[in-house]
Order: sequence, then C-alpha cells, then structure tokens
Amino acid sequence: MCAKKDIHDTSHITYEGLLDGNKQFIENALNSDPEFFTKLANGQSPPILWIGCADSRVPANQITNTAPGEIFVHRNIANMVIHSDMNMLSVLDYAVNVLKVKHVIVTGHYGCGGVMAAMSNQQYGLIDNWLRHIKDVYRLHAEELDAIKDPQKRTDRLVEYNVIENVYNLCKTSIVQNAWTNGQELGVHGWVYSLSTGLISDMKVSTHNNENMDNVFKFK
Ligand SMILES: [Zn+2]
Repeated sequence: MCAKKDIHDTSHITYEGLLDGNKQFIENALNSDPEFFTKLANGQSPPILWIGCADSRVPANQITNTAPGEIFVHRNIANMVIHSDMNMLSVLDYAVNVLKVKHVIVTGHYGCGGVMAAMSNQQYGLIDNWLRHIKDVYRLHAEELDAIKDPQKRTDRLVEYNVIENVYNLCKTSIVQNAWTNGQELGVHGWVYSLSTGLISDMKVSTHNNENMDNVFKFK
C-alpha cells in the first residue's frame, strides 16, 4: 500500500506541472474515446447550469461524476445570485435562452469561507461588499439563526439559507420568469455539498413556475 497523499500539501503543484497534467488528460481522454475532442469541438448542449462556490474543493464536474460538455458552470464566492451582477446574468441568459438548459442548480457547501466571513464582524476589504448580501440573508432568518447556540450548526444553517435565498433570487429574474411564461422546461434547484462526506443534499426548494412568488416580484 502506498502512503495516502496529503491533499493539504500542494507544494508539488507547479505552473509547469499543469501543462504536463494537460498532456496526461489528453492521453486519458483519447484512450477512452478517440473522437473525444472532435465531438466536443463541434459544440455544446449541456442540460444543466451550475452556480457554485469558487472554493477549490467544490468542482462541479468531479463531484457529480460528469464530463466536459455536460455542465455549464458559473462560480463565485459563496455561490451568489446578485441581480445586478452582469457576469452571472450573462451566464444565466446564455444558458437559458441559447443553450436551453433544463435545470439551474445553486450549489453551496458546508464550511464555506465566504459564509463564515459574512457571519463575523471582521473587515476583509473589498469583499465585504460582496459578503453584505450574505449578511442580508442572515437578517432575513436572524430569529432562527440567533437561537442556534452551536456556532458550527448556525453556520451550516446559514449556508443552507444562502442557497435557498439565491434560488429565490434566480426565480425573481426576468430571464427565468420569461422562460416559464414561454413554456420552456426549466427547473431551479438548491443543493448543499458536504466537504466532509462528499454527499450532496437537496434543499427541496425546486421551482418550475412563479406561482408561489411574492406578488411584487412577479413579471407578466
Ligand atoms: Zn464557499
């Protein structure tokens, strides 16, 4: 038995090493399918848009056992859906209106550094303005969260609420609501990934229409 690799030791990861890794990737891909790159070069039709955290431990394809071409991915700190974020909106618009994805999934993860930072009173610099959106989520659920005495459990619950509120944020966009109005098949979902077990939990907030949305957010 060889010794287990310490995943915290990244000292062997070098800039040049990534290019060697790329050659290995090509070799493996071509061994499994000689047409691998020819097919992918012809275009993409992923059925899923993934909005996840930028955290290096939550790569969309690996944790769902999917391959290149199968998931359209947008990642930022703490998997946020901010309605003035042109980057997120552009990805969403392209995914829904051009790629015609059937599902959009907001995936958070327990132990999220962004959520933990948002719960503290410390200043971190520019990022504080981004984390403010998570503080707003806390405020919405402050009564329940304040009552959780165990700090770990309180953080876990905010991670869950942050996913749920961002699912709602997606539903409030004109992009998603127009797709529903036009009869397009589109589900919006919220998941949380556990770093300690690798398991994904469904937050059970899947939405396929705007029926239960607060009236002020509904578009005709
Ligand atoms: Zn995170």
